[in-house]
Amino acid sequence: MKSPKDMKILQIDITNACVNRCSNCTRFCGHHRKPYFMDFETFKKAVDSYDGWDGMVGIIGGEPTLHPEFEKFCDYLREKRECCPPALAREPIDDMQDFIMQNDMTNPDTKIGLWCSLNNGYYRYFETINDTFYRQYLNDHNNECLHQAILMTRKELGISDEEFIKRRDNCFAQNTWSATITPKGAFFCEIAAHLDMLFNGPGGWPIEKGWYNRTPEEFGEQLQWCEMCGLCLDVPKRVSCDERDDVTPLMLEKLKEINSPKVAKGMYVVLEPSKYDKNNYKSFEGPADYIIAGGNIRTTKENRNYYPRKFEITSADNLINCIKTHNPTDWIVITKNKKQGEKIAQKMKDFVLNPGCLYKINDSLLINVLARSIRDYIKNPDCLNADNIVGYYPCDKVIEVNLPKAVNKFFSVKKDKNRIRINVLGLKISVKRRNHG
Ligand code: SF4
Ligand code: SF4
Repeated sequence: MKSPKDMKILQIDITNACVNRCSNCTRFCGHHRKPYFMDFETFKKAVDSYDGWDGMVGIIGGEPTLHPEFEKFCDYLREKRECCPPALAREPIDDMQDFIMQNDMTNPDTKIGLWCSLNNGYYRYFETINDTFYRQYLNDHNNECLHQAILMTRKELGISDEEFIKRRDNCFAQNTWSATITPKGAFFCEIAAHLDMLFNGPGGWPIEKGWYNRTPEEFGEQLQWCEMCGLCLDVPKRVSCDERDDVTPLMLEKLKEINSPKVAKGMYVVLEPSKYDKNNYKSFEGPADYIIAGGNIRTTKENRNYYPRKFEITSADNLINCIKTHNPTDWIVITKNKKQGEKIAQKMKDFVLNPGCLYKINDSLLINVLARSIRDYIKNPDCLNADNIVGYYPCDKVIEVNLPKAVNKFFSVKKDKNRIRINVLGLKISVKRRNHG
């Protein structure tokens, strides 16, 4: 086991509300009758408790973007920990999976990260997220990713004290995942934290500076949760989108006692101890076992959550009237020529765009009502100077787009430090760059 101080990432679990109900979820989503939402004071205390710790602090859930104060939380975290905020995803993106892989792999030294399932909230907070987090662990869970059973007691499976302690002390999850903070305190392990939340446990350590310096010898009563956790055992695994949980009979009884909605819906599979043969299963040992199982596909074009939804087309003269009468909820093309506006909408709908940016396309403009630069004016359109929309945006969020070039999906070349990626009629080729140094 590891002291939290030696982990690369320490988390803050801001909510256990989620849009998904994955199998064997580490937050037990679907078993709670009511989700929690961490309050801002607790969040501040949590962020401040990490002052002086050099690793990455993550915001995680559940689905963190469901938290009603998500944006405020991001702003605070960025101010406290990131001296050089990123400016990601300003140019139109034609391949989100590619974008995820590039940004997932880079900047290991960043001090903050986000875990998010690419639902509607990612789009709503697209600007803030990409102005805050270099590291984004994005996964829509609509893939073949495997989740190992958690809700199992080792005693039911006949695992001796001696073997259990050996396995617990080498638990892959505690060794490679994170310690975390929930509204109930700080915990040596994120799974223990959520078992405590689910079964109304005694809570964690006080959220105070240096809590993470505790060593395994000091984990004390929090280790009780390992007794009802399958992650250090050889137990079944299930594709996350199956949605059923693997449980042992005793854990099923415990879930019934707390009136688990997921159990009421029959979304579980019981592992009968009499039929358990540990030789049939093999515990995960690290991320390669569960991420690569899904081919490392985090999202596909079928997930339309982060694509433009709607385009209103108007002239600058009519902008205020358009806002008042049509109450636009997404993109507005400001153009002198309606046909040109329709062409822009048609071309741009298949690109991932940053709602916080203003796109200049020839002599037309593309803006979004969600932009932090203008959203207050959208609520009070009479205060908006329609002749100088560009003036509301910071220069680095005004993006010139060459329409014919941006929409060329037949041939494109992208270069980064290490690779050249060529796309010819959908066939993707990635070539390692020569180092001439
Ligand atoms: S996305 Fe799935 S695994 Fe993640 S918190 Fe939600 S239900 Fe759990
Ligand atoms: S066995 Fe479960 S609760 Fe214990 S350290 Fe491993 S993941 Fe955490």
